[in-house]
Amino acid sequence: MDHEQAEWNRFCRAIESVKDGLILFCTGAGISKASGIPTFRGSDIEAVWNRSPMELGTYAFFEETPVGHWEWFLGRFDSYFERQPNPAHYAVTALERWQQARGGRMTVITQNIDLLHDRAGTKELIHIHGDMGHARCTRYGCENGAPKGKIRFDSLDFSAFRAEPRLEHIPRCSACGSLVRIHALLFDEYYTSHRDYRMRDAMNATQEARLMVFVGTSFSVGVTAAMLESAHLRQVPAFSLNPEVETGDWEGVGVMNLQVNAEEALPRLCEAVGASM
Ligand SMILES: [Zn+2]
Repeated sequence: MDHEQAEWNRFCRAIESVKDGLILFCTGAGISKASGIPTFRGSDIEAVWNRSPMELGTYAFFEETPVGHWEWFLGRFDSYFERQPNPAHYAVTALERWQQARGGRMTVITQNIDLLHDRAGTKELIHIHGDMGHARCTRYGCENGAPKGKIRFDSLDFSAFRAEPRLEHIPRCSACGSLVRIHALLFDEYYTSHRDYRMRDAMNATQEARLMVFVGTSFSVGVTAAMLESAHLRQVPAFSLNPEVETGDWEGVGVMNLQVNAEEALPRLCEAVGASM
């Protein structure tokens, strides 16, 4: 048996062995790649401003130019509303059902705002970075703004803005008249800035998890690093599915990486453990 196969078998056995405990998934951009959503690197829309997503996806940029903020968001994310979940998203839902049926629990923390897990039917879901189905008022304390409020994105009329991107065409909050912004964690903001990011729930799940599975993400930022530290301290097994990293121990971070595509591997996992998709 080769090394890859041995690690794969270990992964399947680890999933099976959790039984009535909590399996925690953490998904990032890689799981949505097969749905046609590019990972968060520079694209055409960023080139227009000659800046990186990390500069455009900030509140500082909103303050500099609210028009630019919305042009960037619509330019990058508008087409995502038409994307469909891929087999990896459906497999996650199948695993959740399977895990619940045997008396266990499964929680999915996603960094993605694309709502593809929701549309694939996953129930125990934490959108740690917000979601593109909502916007919110920029005025803190407004019923439609942080720390608790939000506005359904499809209730806002962007037609005038799309035709002519100007400040006076950005939709306003119906309660207070302030400008609206995207309902997503920007690079210069904190998880505590809105209740919907559910950082506390994510950390509680992290403390309870008996197994962690990372899909299509790296360990450089925020929540993944915190989860991994917890896994390490409590000696909880952690696996990662990432086709861009060779199978084996991910350098020094205590995760077993499997060099596989999620859209192939997760359905295969379902088959291996008997979770019907
Ligand atoms: Zn408001």
